[in-house]
Amino acid sequence: MPTNPIGNKALIRALNRSTVLNMIKTNDLIARAEVARRTGLSPATVTSITVDLVRDNLIFEKATGDSSGGRRPILLAINPHGGYVIGIKLTETQAISALTDLEANIITKGTDTLSGHSPEKVVEDLVKTVSSLLDQGGIRKKQLLGVGIGLAGIIDASRGVLRQSPIYKWQDVPLKDMLQKRINAPVYLDNDVNTLTLAERWYGSGQKVDNFLTITIGRGVGMGIVVNGRFYRGASGGAGELGHTVVDPEGPLCECGKHGCLEAYVGDPGLLRSAVEARKNVLLGFEAKTIEDLVRLANEGDPGARQVYAQAGELLGRSIANLVNIFNPSRIILNGEGTRAGEWIFGPMKEAIQCHAMPALASDVEIIIDRWGDDKWAYGAASLVLRELFESPVHREA
Ligand SMILES: [Zn+2]
Repeated sequence: MPTNPIGNKALIRALNRSTVLNMIKTNDLIARAEVARRTGLSPATVTSITVDLVRDNLIFEKATGDSSGGRRPILLAINPHGGYVIGIKLTETQAISALTDLEANIITKGTDTLSGHSPEKVVEDLVKTVSSLLDQGGIRKKQLLGVGIGLAGIIDASRGVLRQSPIYKWQDVPLKDMLQKRINAPVYLDNDVNTLTLAERWYGSGQKVDNFLTITIGRGVGMGIVVNGRFYRGASGGAGELGHTVVDPEGPLCECGKHGCLEAYVGDPGLLRSAVEARKNVLLGFEAKTIEDLVRLANEGDPGARQVYAQAGELLGRSIANLVNIFNPSRIILNGEGTRAGEWIFGPMKEAIQCHAMPALASDVEIIIDRWGDDKWAYGAASLVLRELFESPVHREA
């Protein structure tokens, strides 16, 4: 939050502008007088701000509504083509990207292989991804309002610095500044699970829900936390490392260097390790080289593959039961590539939640398993820029 907003005219105007824009976005078609009434801003302020927004092409006016007697009221709506944003999810090997309009409709998307792991190489690849999306979508550079980037790791979102990246082994890399200098457009950076949580909050299962958790399973296990309608990030932006909570200190080695983390059982490498053990015990009928093999075996009825998922589901459910007791969320949204295992993992997970959470709290929580698509990550990253546009900074987390 700004330290001293009083007396800072430009800041107040910027705040009012996003408040008005957000009101129009939330209500689709709304009259100026209604915007003034609902935001508490004066009619003169609303008029002056909407004149700017129409000039900037971000909203348009529509003469519609009731025409009984007098003038037809002029209603305001977001112009979806008033600008475009790009979202990019960085993985170990790829940049998965999408270009969307202001209503988060995907115009075009892409998947590019990274040419290396140094910060300079990754920035170079990002520059290429941005320009090829603009070309593919037939969008001019000046129509681009910003680029959002989501990736695993501990990220200082306010400074746009990647503090610690488990996948690239970077420390304190100012990725936002590096890319911004190259593309001359605003860049926003956040942890990939946070970007996904933001997309849930704005466009998905987290809409109008003030207390929810997003849990992603796939290569790792991540969590986004929304409490009282706000993101909870912790003291230095690292909150939500559910994957590295300890299940058994004597357990298998985790990628973080410690032993027995939840991720070491539920993440893809952990599942494949469990599959090797099940194979040794002759439980697993066939060798599972990839996660796709393991899911297929479970679907085909292989008892070993099903047991691997049942164990992972039980451990995941136990951890979620602890979260239910701590946060008392009304929703838990499960997401990520790992959701493809379906009921083999979620059946045992749901049982474990019922078994271990306090009954009154367990009955309050709705478990939602989202339909997964690979573009979801990129879509999440795009929401970072849209949020910047539509949400007033005072309503954002500190
Ligand atoms: Zn760990």
